[in-house]
Amino acid sequence: MSDRYDQNNIFAKILRKEIPSTPLYEDEYAYAFHDLYPQAPIHILVIPKGAYISMNDFTANASMEEIAGFFKAVGLVARNAGLADEGWRMASNIGENGGQEIPHLHIHILGGKKLGPLLG
Ligand code: C5P
Repeated sequence: MSDRYDQNNIFAKILRKEIPSTPLYEDEYAYAFHDLYPQAPIHILVIPKGAYISMNDFTANASMEEIAGFFKAVGLVARNAGLADEGWRMASNIGENGGQEIPHLHIHILGGKKLGPLLG
């Protein structure tokens, strides 16, 4: 865990069940739930169980097992949501220039319609 990790960020509170969320998937590496403000018909967030700020922190400090387990879960959640055939988008905002709002790594799974250009 980075010493800059804020234990009081919203997703840390969701993991600790201090803030309610509707679980879509959970295992030892990952937790998935609906984004509260969906930007597509299907908008799911997948977060690692470990305390990682972003992809910077995760890829530098998580174990191979955590990284593999987490990304296996991302793919499984998308397939479980019925997105495998029609296609979907995976995105993660990183830091200030990346537009990250919540400082706990999260992967956005977006789908359910034909999405516009990534940088539209
Ligand atoms: O990548 P970024 O940090 O901007 O994404 C944060 C996401 O968390 C947003 O899509 C926002 O809608 C979502 N969110 C949420 N529940 C909250 C606060 C934010 O699903 N309580």
